[in-house]
Amino acid sequence: CHSFEYLELMKKNNPEYAQMFEQSEIYLQNYIASHPNLGKERAVVTIPIVVHLIYNPDSINHQLSDWQITSQIDVLNEDYRRFNADNIKTPEMFSSVAADIEFEFALANRDPNGNWTNGIIRVPTTISEFDLSDAMKFTTLGGDNAWPNKDYLNIWVCRLVYPTLGYSTFPTDSSSKSGVVVHYKAFGRIDCFSTKYYLGRSATHEIGHWFNLKHVDGDEPCCALDDGCDDTPLQAKNNQGCKEFPFSSISDCSPQTNPQPCNNTSDMFMNYMDYTYDSCMNLFSNDQRIRMLAAFNLYRTSLLSSQALIPPTSFSNDIGITKVLFPDELIYGDSM
Ligand code: ZN
Ligand code: CA
Repeated sequence: CHSFEYLELMKKNNPEYAQMFEQSEIYLQNYIASHPNLGKERAVVTIPIVVHLIYNPDSINHQLSDWQITSQIDVLNEDYRRFNADNIKTPEMFSSVAADIEFEFALANRDPNGNWTNGIIRVPTTISEFDLSDAMKFTTLGGDNAWPNKDYLNIWVCRLVYPTLGYSTFPTDSSSKSGVVVHYKAFGRIDCFSTKYYLGRSATHEIGHWFNLKHVDGDEPCCALDDGCDDTPLQAKNNQGCKEFPFSSISDCSPQTNPQPCNNTSDMFMNYMDYTYDSCMNLFSNDQRIRMLAAFNLYRTSLLSSQALIPPTSFSNDIGITKVLFPDELIYGDSM
């Protein structure tokens, strides 16, 4: 994931953004400290999604099917509710802090103009590969413009330059760039493109950043920085591939010069915010949940009044026009 490279780029190009980002962490920590009951009351929130699929018309692989896209939504609903079948693989040491985030996700039924949509926008492009410069987020640059991020989580799916699997903005970014980008090869629960990233966990991970999660290693070597969550052990570096529990990356930090106690029993390498393969990840933690809820309350509450998941009423009132515009509907049991 290149969210932190992206963040560094944003900071470099905009010193004010760097300052704002520093302050936002203090803001978030203060919010959590002053809301001790945060997360005690359980309430499921559904996040409306629009997927912008930016595809190369010359490559049949780029044209993900609607099924592949909805399989990604299924993965999000499993991972963020801890309904994932592989939750039994969480080591006992960490299972007591494994969390149901209580976020659900659904493709939009209504576009910004109030018209019916299936939440999937397909846009052909002449750009062969996209990078961190955000071109996929702008129609004039070969991508597709965002829908208003107060009402939608925008996800752009496209071919990304190697080795980027995806990246996300953080909640401090409320511009039209706000959203998540995922390589088409890692999107959805598919196994035809990748043997490592075929379970849809790249989007699970990136949306974690969109809700202000950091990588479990804090993106600093040898435990110099924590990820802002007490229940994820300090971790010396990010983990790649798959690991056998218990595993600690501390051995990569010798001689250990950092004063922080970094000698954990095991890294939480199976956390969605590490870098391991999809099949080796299976949890978010309670403190990550609190961070996400705080980020939601501070930055994303407009989604609660979004109309995106309410199908337009004219749709059901005018069956004649409905059929002409949306013949696909006939597949799903026509009452006539
Ligand atoms: Zn990441
Ligand atoms: Ca931690």
